[in-house]
Amino acid sequence: MIPADPPDLYGRCGFTYTALPVRVVFGRGTLARLAGEVEAMGCRRVLVLSSPEQAGDARGVADRLGGFGAGVFAGAAMHTPVAVTEQALAQVRAAGADGLLSLGGGSATGLGKALALRTGLPQVAVPTTYAGSEMTPILGQTENGRKTTQRDVRLLPQVVVYDVDLTLGLPVALSVTSGLNAIAHAVEALYAQDANPMTSALAEQGIASLARALPGVVADPADAGARSDALFGAWACGMCLGTVGMALHHKLCHVLGGSFDLPHAPVHAVILPYAVAYNSLAAAGPLARVARALGAEDPAAGLFALSGALGARRSLQEIGMLESDLDRAADLAVQSPYWNPRLVERDGIRALLDDAFFGRQPATGRPAPCNWESSHA
Ligand code: NAD
Repeated sequence: MIPADPPDLYGRCGFTYTALPVRVVFGRGTLARLAGEVEAMGCRRVLVLSSPEQAGDARGVADRLGGFGAGVFAGAAMHTPVAVTEQALAQVRAAGADGLLSLGGGSATGLGKALALRTGLPQVAVPTTYAGSEMTPILGQTENGRKTTQRDVRLLPQVVVYDVDLTLGLPVALSVTSGLNAIAHAVEALYAQDANPMTSALAEQGIASLARALPGVVADPADAGARSDALFGAWACGMCLGTVGMALHHKLCHVLGGSFDLPHAPVHAVILPYAVAYNSLAAAGPLARVARALGAEDPAAGLFALSGALGARRSLQEIGMLESDLDRAADLAVQSPYWNPRLVERDGIRALLDDAFFGRQPATGRPAPCNWESSHA
């Protein structure tokens, strides 16, 4: 059992919390409310954005919008390439669109944000994965092989419409890795430098919800109850990502995805238990809440067991990493590191990457210097 928060914890530690100004509509069949939401936002002609694979669904949404639709741009791609944004921008202008509606995962949402940045147009996001981008004021864009990330409240969609029914067809493998990607946001929120009681409560709820739901999704992908819990968890975890800073895990995934072209959600799924093991002593209090949410004794072992039970690939070698690149990955990971509860040291990171490459049981409890007293849990 995790003890209750000690008396006067928040008085002693203090915290800051900034709420995100976004309207959320959550449920089943909420797509039927889209036209009303678009109208309430003051828009008359919204351009629908999606990845090529969801072009048919995007056309269906544009049809449902009736007179509020201004066509479809179905060219969204992973990591928001600037060249794609420029093509979409030309279509926004040609169509005279006064709003943006992104339908899909983080790629479609990212395109909506990139266009909002350039035009100031309002956005509705309709997420169909568990990535959580719709709840964040964060955008990563790629140009000439470089990914740059920015945070600006103007990137945040004004309205997010979660329709559980849209996730019933999300392929199982993507559901699993996307769900583990969401859990990673909440795990790092619990030990964030700017952790606060609001985000931490939501983080624990999000982890518990996804950990309970994902086995149900694997057993029956069309189980609306499990899908509803998973999407609720994704919302909660996305709120965490949007509200507080991320640490070592997200830095490692940024390096591995950006410099070694590993796929976004699978790399999160592999790395999470190892990043947690690395931080296990430095952030023992917050990570005890992860264990509680998972119903596990140890947070890293619990996450490793969860991804194994869900059938996720658990090693970097299985998702395309080369062993000869591990040294360079360690070098990049320790350059301008994100704040992390345990100091980010090259030897420790190289050992972490080695364990992750081979998919070994994560080794917890390596004594190490800390950045932070584990005092806010
Ligand atoms: P994605 O958006 O690239 O989607 C992967 C594939 O699944 C696409 O082909 C998509 O069309 C398809 N798909 C999505 N939902 C589907 C559904 N319900 N049914 C069938 N197919 C579906 O993948 P993702 O993991 O959601 O997003 C990854 C991208 O999002 C990356 O570029 C990442 O950097 C970004 N991201 C950004 C943030 C942020 O806060 N800025 C947060 C998380 C992820």
